Amino acid sequence: MTLSRARAARLKPLLDAVADDRPWNDRVRFDPVEFPHRYSDPRDIEVVALLSASLAYGRADLFKPKIESVLSKLGKRPANRLKSLEAGELRSVLDGFVYRFNLPADVGVLLMGMGACLREHGSLETTFLEARRSSGDNRAALSTFARTIRDAAPRAEIVRVLGKTRGLDHLLPVGNGAAKRLSLYLRWMVRGPDAIDFGIWARVKPAELVIPLDTHIARLSTWLGLTSRQTQGWAMAEEITESLRHLAPDDPVRYDFSLCHFGMSGACPVHPVKENCRKCPLRAECRVGRRAG
Ligand code: SF4
Repeated sequence: MTLSRARAARLKPLLDAVADDRPWNDRVRFDPVEFPHRYSDPRDIEVVALLSASLAYGRADLFKPKIESVLSKLGKRPANRLKSLEAGELRSVLDGFVYRFNLPADVGVLLMGMGACLREHGSLETTFLEARRSSGDNRAALSTFARTIRDAAPRAEIVRVLGKTRGLDHLLPVGNGAAKRLSLYLRWMVRGPDAIDFGIWARVKPAELVIPLDTHIARLSTWLGLTSRQTQGWAMAEEITESLRHLAPDDPVRYDFSLCHFGMSGACPVHPVKENCRKCPLRAECRVGRRAG
């Protein structure tokens, strides 16, 4: 699907207006990006961000206390703490941790894998760049990055201390899926800096990012004609990104946070509400909103 030049010209001012609407900055506290914003050192930001993005599934009021509890055990300099973390210490860090698909050992693999990558590569940015060098495309790079972290952890020791793993494929997915949370992590690291994204990975360009595809982005993108695909997956994420590239070639993912929170905040709910549509800034280009009367 290719977005026509005329349609891109009509959509751009509408999406720019929504993206530039300053109140979206207040939404940071409803978003897992809130956690890395508590830190100033890039190494702390990148490890806290990966932990936060990886666990950011389901309801925010349920996953946020889980992230909070792990962070409280890692102290003020979590990157340094992870670099020296031993498997025998994991029980005190992950005591009582269970969140939906994930058991303590899953998070133990993530924490110790990040520590090992920091020791070996110096940063998660360098770990990602190495993964990208050995991979063919963006999706493969994210998969290799996740695999590198998983493989760097001393799995047998972690299982001996914490018991079996259960949801590693969900926490750090490898393969060809939508990789929504890894794409979200990459957006945080690469875009910006602004009030939301950090822009601390300067060796990756924002133009190379693919939109993190969640249900809000998929729904709004369908209604706004940014994708014609029916199935949510990596191909849909790439198609939406390609459409947005017609609006902002150097930074197509700049619309992600505002569009996602436009859906999450209830401004555009799953079941459209006429009153919302009538005052919606996107209505002129929304196929559902135009029917709202
Ligand atoms: S017009 Fe209605 S359905 Fe369309 S984006 Fe706006 S609120 Fe959502």
